[in-house]
Amino acid sequence: MTTGQVLDGRAIAAAVRAEVAVDAARFLDQHGRQPGLEVVLVGEDPASQVYVRNKERAAGQAGIRGAVHRLPASTSQSDLLGLLARLNADDTVDGILVQLPVPEGLDELVTTDAIDPAKDVDGLHPMNAGALVAGRPGLQPCTPRGCMRLLRETGIELTGKRAIVIGRSNLVGKPIGLMLLAANCTVTMAHSRTVDLEDRVRESDVVVAAVGRPRMIEGGWVKDGAVVIDVGINRLEDGTLCGDVDYEGALARASWVTPVPRGVGPMTIAMLLQNTVDAAFARASR
Ligand code: NDP
Repeated sequence: MTTGQVLDGRAIAAAVRAEVAVDAARFLDQHGRQPGLEVVLVGEDPASQVYVRNKERAAGQAGIRGAVHRLPASTSQSDLLGLLARLNADDTVDGILVQLPVPEGLDELVTTDAIDPAKDVDGLHPMNAGALVAGRPGLQPCTPRGCMRLLRETGIELTGKRAIVIGRSNLVGKPIGLMLLAANCTVTMAHSRTVDLEDRVRESDVVVAAVGRPRMIEGGWVKDGAVVIDVGINRLEDGTLCGDVDYEGALARASWVTPVPRGVGPMTIAMLLQNTVDAAFARASR
């Protein structure tokens, strides 16, 4: 039995944001302007409004020029594409993000495909997804990138480790699997049709849960000394949040566990800022 350490996403995200602020200041110094991030919010989804406000505030604190385009839910696809074309053509814009989900009537894939891949700070454009598959440079999705940074902070060597990713979404599970593969892990991708999940978790040195089912990974399944990254965010009936992993149970066996909240969540915005600054430098060097 080991007693795990808490992998504190809030503290690590603060460190990332401080690094980004240094890079953003260097970009300003070299290029005479701040890196620019434009967030497009269509409709009035309350959760999306909170996320967008947080992104705008975090950008400002890191020395990134953040702007938000708030469009009505009735916005047509062609109007949205027109805005994205203008932002693509604007040389002072380094990062473009359309807050998902978009309202009914708008096509998510048509929308994200219209963003210049060099400005696609969510890493969702097929060009960037393909670059990740091929191991080529590109912008990578923020939450998976945040998970990899958290793993790096443990100091544990990933090469040769058995890793399991539970969940295979394009946004989270699949890119994390590819990043772990690139870090020389032997990767198992589990999903809703996996028949032997418990056995596969029991043999894994790294467990990444990205499902959206409260505490479905039992603490007793976790291998002694494993690292557990819990991406899931689930709101319980009493209003509190919990992850996909039984946190207390996992902490009794693992070497490191991310809490929910204050684990992966804060890393996502920090990596969005990092992607914006990376995009700014990459575009400036073309
Ligand atoms: P999706 O709903 O797109 O994907 C969920 C995945 O879980 C699917 O691949 C699904 O399998 C799999 N799954 C469902 N049930 C089971 C099961 N019983 N056993 C094994 N696998 C199962 O979710 P996302 O990837 O977008 O998000 C996952 C979680 O992460 C959510 O809780 C979300 O809120 C959270 N999240 C957190 C972020 C953060 O910043 N911390 C950012 C983004 C997401 P199948 O493909 O077979 O259907």
